[in-house]
Amino acid sequence: MHKLRLKPKFSGCLVGAAIGDGLGSWQEGKGMTESEKVEPLVEKLRQLIYTDDTHMTIGVTESLIASKGFNGEHMAQTFLSNYEAEPWRGYGPGPPQIFRMIETGEPWNSAARKLYNGGSMGNGSAMRVAPVGLLYSSDPAKLREIAYQSSSITHSHELGREGAALQAYAVALALNTSSGEELNQKDYLLRLQDFAQNRLYKEKVARIKELLGEQDKARVVTVLGNGIEALRSVPTAIYSFLRQPGAYKDTVIYAISLGGDTDTIASMAGAISGAYLGIDAIPGEWKAKLENKDYIEALAERLWRLTAFPYEY
Ligand SMILES: [Mg+2]
Repeated sequence: MHKLRLKPKFSGCLVGAAIGDGLGSWQEGKGMTESEKVEPLVEKLRQLIYTDDTHMTIGVTESLIASKGFNGEHMAQTFLSNYEAEPWRGYGPGPPQIFRMIETGEPWNSAARKLYNGGSMGNGSAMRVAPVGLLYSSDPAKLREIAYQSSSITHSHELGREGAALQAYAVALALNTSSGEELNQKDYLLRLQDFAQNRLYKEKVARIKELLGEQDKARVVTVLGNGIEALRSVPTAIYSFLRQPGAYKDTVIYAISLGGDTDTIASMAGAISGAYLGIDAIPGEWKAKLENKDYIEALAERLWRLTAFPYEY
């Protein structure tokens, strides 16, 4: 695909993720709801304020740009300084403890392992991994390696790392499919299944295929999940996208309507949808309400320039 055509997809991905997060945060921890009840939420809100999901996605992007690629120490320090500037973004209990360990000299790739015996299998590294999918979209092996490494800063369990890699690859596949061509869901899922190295994720991707067209949301939640574990949220985000690949709004609303960890699942689904459809597919009213939209778009453009014109840097 021509480089210029990727530019609105980069901003669609990051802005799409932030909006999913900001809107989804209003339903976080609640149960399933009707899709019709989600959309009026935007009208009631004066601004879409994002949470830790977007705050850390911004950190990943800032660090990838500054380091012209992945640098674990730099990324960990970026997380730390962003957290110290805005600790009120709804961080879970784990990351701030890890940041403090890193601040006092613990290496970036061992703090998480020390805090959680065996590592965390939560979705906290998948929720921020979209920029890795954008930057390494043409090299799946490298994408996997960087997704694993960026995950290890806070989530070193195999299921946490694999969830991050699968989410990054879902973004990469969406980015590399022209929004003008209809997305082949079966082909997309086959590629995800091939990419997944962990048996549990391979099984989940197979279940996504069975559920396409399912009307019963309770069944979707039972099979795919809506929780904070990566294994019970990354496949749900991918599914929310694949149900309605042609409509960003429907993807995000559907993800939120499933309840549970709605900010993260809607953010991940919004990232994939935005990477496929581009920023123009996101409703104008939603974009107008997003906090720090200009900064997020500027970051997306700088990340795009890094891939489009690497020799400028
Ligand atoms: Mg959050």
